[in-house]
Amino acid sequence: MPLDEYRRKRDFNRTPEPEGGETGRARRRRQEARDGGYFCVQKHLASHLHYDLRLEHGGVLLSWAVPKGPSLRPSDRRMAVQTEDHPYEYGSFEGVIPEGYGAGIVMLWDHGTWAPEVEDIDAALEKGDLKFTLDGYKLKGSWALVRTRDREGTPIRQRRRNWLLIKHADFWSGPVDITELAPLSVKSEGDFDDILAADMPDLWLADRPATATGRGSAASLTREVIERAARKILARHESATAAPPAATSRRRRPAGSSKARTRR
Ligand code: MN
Repeated sequence: MPLDEYRRKRDFNRTPEPEGGETGRARRRRQEARDGGYFCVQKHLASHLHYDLRLEHGGVLLSWAVPKGPSLRPSDRRMAVQTEDHPYEYGSFEGVIPEGYGAGIVMLWDHGTWAPEVEDIDAALEKGDLKFTLDGYKLKGSWALVRTRDREGTPIRQRRRNWLLIKHADFWSGPVDITELAPLSVKSEGDFDDILAADMPDLWLADRPATATGRGSAASLTREVIERAARKILARHESATAAPPAATSRRRRPAGSSKARTRR
C-alpha cells in the first residue's frame, strides 16, 4: 500500500492534512484519463525550509523534498530527496500543521499538470532517470529527475532516495531565481504569515505560541513569520473593533438634528 508510510507518520486527529480517502474506483478513473497528471510544489516551512515536488502517478503523489527549491538554471542541480508517497488530495493542501510530523506551514507554491517524456514512467523511475514536462504557473518546460548513487554505508531505508532535479535548457529556462522572483502562494496569493494569520485561532492573540528555538535560519524565519502573522491578526482585530470613522457616525445623528430633519 503506497500510502502506508504517509499514514503511519501522521495522527489525523491532530493534523489538518488530508488522510487520503479517495476510493479505488475514482482513482482508477482519474488514472485512465491521462498519462502524467497533476503536479504541485509545496513550500514547506518546517524545521527546515524546503520545497516538496509532487507528481501524480499510480493514484498517489510521488514526492521529493527539494531543500533549495527548483531552479530554472540548467547548470543547477538541486538535491531532491524522495519522501513517502502522498495522497492525491494532498496536492491542494495549504495551511498550518500545528504539531507532529512536518509541523509548520505549507504553502501551495506552484501547481499544474505534468507529462512524462518517456514511454514508461515506472521503468524510468526504476532506472533513476525521469524526464518530464511541467506546465505550472511558475515551472514550465522540460525537466529531469536523476537518481544519484548512494554513498557507501547509506542505511537501507535511505537508499535510492537521493535524486537531482535539473531544468533542461529550453524556452522556460534562464538565469532566474524563481523562488525569489515568485515567492508567494498560487492558491491564496499570500506568504507564510498570511497563511498563518488565516489559519490561526483567535487564541493566538492572547496566548502566542512558543517560537522556534535554535540558530537555524528556519528557526529565525519561523519566529519572524509568527511575529508578522500576529501583527496582521492584531491589525485585523483592531480594524474590526475600531470606532466607526467620522463619515459613518455622521449618519447616526440624532433624529432632532437639522440635517436629519431635512432628509425626511
Ligand atoms: Mn515537506
